[in-house]
Amino acid sequence: MATLKEVISCTSDYDPDALPVAKANEVIRSFVKPVSGVEKLPVRAALGRVLARDIVSPINVPLHDNSAMDGYAVRNDDLGAHMPVTLTEIGTAYAGKEFTGEVGRGECVRVMTGAVMPTNTDTVIIQEAVTVEGNRISIPPGQEPGQNRRLAGEDLHRLAGEDLQKGKPALKAGALLRPAELGLIASLGIGEVSVRRKLKVAFFSTGDELVSVGKKLKAGEVYDSNRYTLWGMLTHLGCEVIDLGVVRDDPKKLEAAFRRAAASADAVVTSGGVSVGEADFTKQMMAKLGEVVFWKIAMRPGRPMAFGRIRSRGKAAYLFGLPGNPVAVMVTFYHFVRGALLTMMSRNDTDLPLLRAKSETAMRKKPGRTEYQRGILQLKNGEWSVRLTGAQGSGILRSMSEANCFVVLGHEQGSVKAGDYVEVMVMDGLV
Ligand code: AMP
Ligand code: MG
Repeated sequence: MATLKEVISCTSDYDPDALPVAKANEVIRSFVKPVSGVEKLPVRAALGRVLARDIVSPINVPLHDNSAMDGYAVRNDDLGAHMPVTLTEIGTAYAGKEFTGEVGRGECVRVMTGAVMPTNTDTVIIQEAVTVEGNRISIPPGQEPGQNRRLAGEDLHRLAGEDLQKGKPALKAGALLRPAELGLIASLGIGEVSVRRKLKVAFFSTGDELVSVGKKLKAGEVYDSNRYTLWGMLTHLGCEVIDLGVVRDDPKKLEAAFRRAAASADAVVTSGGVSVGEADFTKQMMAKLGEVVFWKIAMRPGRPMAFGRIRSRGKAAYLFGLPGNPVAVMVTFYHFVRGALLTMMSRNDTDLPLLRAKSETAMRKKPGRTEYQRGILQLKNGEWSVRLTGAQGSGILRSMSEANCFVVLGHEQGSVKAGDYVEVMVMDGLV
């Protein structure tokens, strides 16, 4: 496995004092590796987990050609191109109860949605299109051969946009198992799946000023909110969380906490203690534990950040030392930690989509850093429109709470005028 130093030496324009967001992510993504470990679970218990192996379809779904509509199954060679034809109804096929006879020339079968296509028929005429007189069914001209018929194996084929018939992979390893995937797996008759084991992530807050909820605040103290946002984000990502509490700004206590975290988890996420001044003593202590780099990232909010790998008792864990400011913690988590943890989970979709939206407000912005403003995205007159939440300070959690998206102002971008288009990342379902 490459060392962090080796990974960094392959990164062009690496400057730890003004690192663009994309460069930091490049280093992080090439350094972190998926963890091993697979477990078998009943399908429902696998919700939110990551598929460990391809699921190969043991059957065609649906098993047989069947009717997509309520109507009449006919032989296309009976239909007239320009004149109506009248056929004789000889029976009915239901979903789950097929018509067993053969359909001869001039005959048709009443079919319900999902019924297996009767032998010799290939086309379904919807019931609304025909005229019925006893068992005489009159069908207007101009029907499409094969219409309203679902082919065997076609449903799944459509659902996932690729070849999913018997013997073909229905789902690829690395897929997140959402409700649709649970249903898809069940539709194949499969009751158990192999998923990646949960990622173990330890986290703690650092700071002499932090007080746990339930206690009275004294002058200069603040409640420790980061441990709640971190717990929430990690839990939403499907991690097994290990809460190591608040650790004081004391090198011995910090070292003990980092050792405990490294020995018990795949990754460690901390908040605070990486800003200039604090970083110096954290740096010296980290040097004993492993390989950690301290970055000033060209972004707002969330400039300082530490990243690396630490070891204790023969075990290693990736380390993400996030800044202490509450909004900066969330922003750096979303934009660096999230993707890294998904990579460690072997997820095959680690990147978030960006939308384009019209900005309702002007935004001041200097080129040379990436900014993540908190915004409210709405559909207005048929187009996405975004406005900023109130005060955007990096300590103001309220701006995160009111927001439903990040307005992403890229590294090179300058100020935005009202009416300009900006890139937006929707928060709902982010983590
Ligand atoms: P630091 O990065 O440790 O210098 O912290 C930057 C700012 O974030 C300071 O105002 C801290 O009081 C605040 N802060 C740090 N950790 C937390 C936390 N766990 N919860 C709430 N605020 C915090
Ligand atoms: Mg601090």
